[in-house]
Amino acid sequence: MCRRCFVKSVEDKVRATIARYHMLKFDDKIAVAVSGGKDSVSLLHILAKIERVCPRASLVAITVDEGIKGYRDEALKIAAFYCRRLGIEHHVVSFKQLFGYTLDEIVRNMKKKHSGMTSCACCGVLRRKALNVAARKLGADKLATAHTLDDEAQTILLNILHGDVLRIAREKPVTDEAHPKLVRRIKPFCEIPEKETALYAYVKNIKLQSTPCPYASEALRNDVREILNRLDEKHAGMKFAIFKSVDRIRPALEEIAKKEGLGECQDCGEPTTESICRTCQMLRHVS
Ligand code: SF4
Ligand code: ZN
Repeated sequence: MCRRCFVKSVEDKVRATIARYHMLKFDDKIAVAVSGGKDSVSLLHILAKIERVCPRASLVAITVDEGIKGYRDEALKIAAFYCRRLGIEHHVVSFKQLFGYTLDEIVRNMKKKHSGMTSCACCGVLRRKALNVAARKLGADKLATAHTLDDEAQTILLNILHGDVLRIAREKPVTDEAHPKLVRRIKPFCEIPEKETALYAYVKNIKLQSTPCPYASEALRNDVREILNRLDEKHAGMKFAIFKSVDRIRPALEEIAKKEGLGECQDCGEPTTESICRTCQMLRHVS
């Protein structure tokens, strides 16, 4: 494909995914999680394009500052730059402001206490909560994240490896209205391979972050990513096959997951399946 046709093919696929999973309504306020990485900035570009032809819809961007020294600053600048350029309101929420600690401080304390939890696991739990709280405060109807087909296939395998198969039922291309405090999450890139979003960012001349996260190498996700990439190279279509098979068994898992129900955390009042949410459990441990 030439550059123009490639860009169009990715944008058309995103539109088709949004339509297939009924992700958006014509008057939705959409909060986009923009980390400043290639995927999230590409998603911001495509959603901005879609929003331009839907005058009653609106976009707002949220960046979470985890407090990772020497890493997040550059991404924050990239996110702010593209939001300004596209004329999108940009909000930054930090772990320090929301939870009282930076991720660096949490990781240091966790290591001291030999908690065994990886930095990425802590980061993921806190980021999820930060995004939901920020999107809800902004009055967003949907929270869009840039998870690609690769991320989705990896998450499915990771949930199996962690023995948490019911989470697969909750991780959907578009989440249900499970609780009034939970903003529905949508994943418009869920059927787009990461290679394509990376190429899209390259063709669109999107600035890339030069420094990787210092904690990235610890994540189990890296090993899963490697395995899946090897498999997909040898047997094309593996990632898509994993993603689609889960789509078929999800209704059965959802039935089981529903029995768990969602309550509110005794400490912070946010939705959770446990009496104390994972964020508060972690913060109790750290403090
Ligand atoms: Fe957080 Fe891990 Fe990503 Fe770093 S690599 S930003 S610690 S999830
Ligand atoms: Zn809590």
